[in-house]
Amino acid sequence: MTATRKKLVLVGNGMAGVWAIEHLLKLAPEAYEITIFGSEPHPNYNRIMLSSVLAGGANMDEIIINDLEWYRSHNITLYIGQTVTAIDTDKRVIYSDKGIETEYDELILATGSHPFMLPLPGADKKGVIAFRDIKDCEIMQETAKSYRKAVVIGGGLLGLEAARGLLHLGMEVSVVHINEYIMERQLDQPASIMLRKELEDQGMKFLLNKQSEAILGQKRVKSLLFADGSTVEADLIVMAVGIKPNIKLAQKSGITINRGIVVNDYMETNIPGISAVGECAEHRGIAYGLVAPLYEQGAVLAKRLAGVVTEGYAGSVTSTKLKVSGVNVFSAGQFTEPENSRALRFQDEIDGVYKKLVIQNDKLIGAVLFGDTNDGAQLFSMIKKGENIKGREKELLLGISADAFSAGQGNRLEEMADDEIICGCNGVSKGRIAEAIQSEGCTSVGQIKACTKASASCGGCKPLVEGLLQLYAGDAVVTVKEGICGCTPLGRDEIVSEIKRMELKTVKEVMNVLEWNVEEGCSKCRPSLNYYLGMLWPEEYVDEKESRFTNERYHANIQKDGTYSVVPRIYGGVTSPAALKKIAEVAEKFDVPMVKFTGGQRIDLLGVKKEDLPKMWEELDMPSGHAYGKTLRTVKTCVGSTFCRFGTQDAIGMGIRLEKEFERLTAPAKVKLAVSGCPRNCAEATIKDFGVVAIDGGWELHIGGNGGVHVRATDLLCVVKTDDEVVEWASAFLQYYRESAGWNERTAAWVERVGVDSVKKALENREDRLALQERIQKTLSLTTDPWKQIVNEPELRKNFEPITQPETV
Ligand SMILES: Cc1cc2nc3c(=O)[nH]c(=O)nc-3n(C[C@H](O)[C@H](O)[C@H](O)COP(=O)(O)OP(=O)(O)OC[C@H]3O[C@@H](n4cnc5c(N)ncnc54)[C@H](O)[C@@H]3O)c2cc1C
Ligand code: SF4
Repeated sequence: MTATRKKLVLVGNGMAGVWAIEHLLKLAPEAYEITIFGSEPHPNYNRIMLSSVLAGGANMDEIIINDLEWYRSHNITLYIGQTVTAIDTDKRVIYSDKGIETEYDELILATGSHPFMLPLPGADKKGVIAFRDIKDCEIMQETAKSYRKAVVIGGGLLGLEAARGLLHLGMEVSVVHINEYIMERQLDQPASIMLRKELEDQGMKFLLNKQSEAILGQKRVKSLLFADGSTVEADLIVMAVGIKPNIKLAQKSGITINRGIVVNDYMETNIPGISAVGECAEHRGIAYGLVAPLYEQGAVLAKRLAGVVTEGYAGSVTSTKLKVSGVNVFSAGQFTEPENSRALRFQDEIDGVYKKLVIQNDKLIGAVLFGDTNDGAQLFSMIKKGENIKGREKELLLGISADAFSAGQGNRLEEMADDEIICGCNGVSKGRIAEAIQSEGCTSVGQIKACTKASASCGGCKPLVEGLLQLYAGDAVVTVKEGICGCTPLGRDEIVSEIKRMELKTVKEVMNVLEWNVEEGCSKCRPSLNYYLGMLWPEEYVDEKESRFTNERYHANIQKDGTYSVVPRIYGGVTSPAALKKIAEVAEKFDVPMVKFTGGQRIDLLGVKKEDLPKMWEELDMPSGHAYGKTLRTVKTCVGSTFCRFGTQDAIGMGIRLEKEFERLTAPAKVKLAVSGCPRNCAEATIKDFGVVAIDGGWELHIGGNGGVHVRATDLLCVVKTDDEVVEWASAFLQYYRESAGWNERTAAWVERVGVDSVKKALENREDRLALQERIQKTLSLTTDPWKQIVNEPELRKNFEPITQPETV
């Protein structure tokens, strides 16, 4: 039997080639004796997931698609770390750089692409790389350990994903883009602007309309020079300006090439017995750079090689999704309006949502979604099918409900061919998902993900997977609920109770056990899990620095020019000449450009360089004012009975006591307190999270106030007589809020949501109050001052110091 097998050689052990082989093995397992050559020293891995590796959402082991055992079990001869350098097309033999000669009956070229490197003077310096493979990823991870400043040239998909990963690695990242708008090949201007703002909030800097001119430095890169004469400092430059098909081998073997290796609809080149697939192939003038089309090509190629009749490959409509946590961007088809087309737009700047549909001849031909990309997969499917959407345009723009989808669009899924790809990232077809539901008993998206890998990478295909579940599992479907973010269907309460029940102790563990559908999570769920874990396990949980925002990582508020502000704690707003003198001296010594009083009775030193922060904290020798985090901010006080003739109680004393009691407390959102010495309420206690107002013979305690965007006056919680009672109720209230509210939910929103009566009820029993007080005291007893900690621990301090590496010539 084996003797009759034809010899099949695959050059390029990457995603497209190996996918075609996998498909072929399913169709005709006995037809070929297979040999694979790959230049990289790894088995086939998911290149797409390199972005996740860089952003901390996956490790290298997790991105291997076919491990060495897979090759062995399919009797495939694998040569890794070997490059095929020549093909004798007459004798049908290939030659590798390590001296291997192999005959073939059929040869597949799947050599992928090379990253395009701008031919700038200095581009050969150390520290200038691309973002294409595991090696590049490792260089970035290594560089981030000893260098600070990264510059990414290219504001497209790849550049932004590289930039996000580098931010995660703790580098300061500037994205240089030649155009005024980032991702201009996928997004229109409003979406591009919204995306830039969102990424700026995550800490990315943008240098737009900049043409790179030269890379400066000696052996290693030091800076990037622009055509306008300006420069940006750089210890690392990542070029992400595009790819070019890798056609070198084909070219020197006499195979017809253009931009890529030219193929017909059956992926055949002009030379008999030689096919090409993947990014190296050019079909009808297009060389694709995304996996979904490559999988479609692979399926056609596998069928032809297996002798299965196929209609051939007719080209692909593509869609893209940015894999940056916390940012939802989707683009498909023609996003700019060609002639005779119409566009429908929806923009909600409050919730940060933008949608645009482009329609021609009653058909959807393109879509851009920002902020809410839930309908992306369905819209994409309509674009591909060329479905008539007359009369449904607005409904599609405003959101496809699950019911409408299953009722009106269900047929589309039913009619879809079995080999149509649902999950582009992992090449999972409709047929495979149907099999998982019908034969393997999957009844939820989580189970399908575990079984087939569908929706395991970017999550964009989840709505289609849900549609297939409804189609094939019917009533058995485990209903998908609204989760805390797009990464999970679980709500806040379910997550907290599962963490408690299963005693989950790390963010990664929660995501794994609770089957997150986006492996690395996003900027909504990571910080919230970090908070919930810290709140539930104050003694054991080690805070995950990388799940916090910049301000909380550096214990200072980042300003719009990239400098920071330093706000020392001034208990109750009461200071002394000595403390003021010290603040003034430090401000002078470090050339602080602005010294300002805050609305919370403190002093803000603005415009401080990151590297000066620990030195300033050391010289100030004052506790952090926590003016940056989701913590207790200030306790504002009036002068009260100490000086004011109306004052009935010691507002200053009470304010200082409360501030000392709760300083360093972490909470779902920032918390502000105030104490007024009489009902004239000069400290504005009735717009604070917890307000204390003195009355004759006691104190009124108020909750749930807010003076921000949505002003809300407090609700009266109760009236107490003694100072100790104030502290007891404040402790109980704050701990109850910590344990019950959602992450990022201010007390005002929380009290509105749960109702003031439910809060009163939860706190009315003294035993319950004391238990809450005990828990908050336990948490507080475990906190330390972050500034002091950084000042005293050289390892932590290192994160702030600029690194001066001696230049090697
Ligand atoms: C960081 C990153 C993120 C991405 N994200 C997405 C995404 O979200 N969605 C998406 O659709 N696409 C994404 N892509 C693109 C996607 O990864 C590629 O389209 C896909 O990997 C191309 O597959 P391929 O097999 O054609 O090429 P490759 O995966 O590049 O494989 C080609 C292989 O052939 C080897 N080779 C080349 N020449 C020879 C030779 N002469 N002899 C032996 N071996 C050789 C190469 O070393 C390489 O290993 C991303 C790419 C990167 C780099
Ligand atoms: S609130 Fe009352 S006690 Fe305090 S300053 Fe105003 S008037 Fe005086």
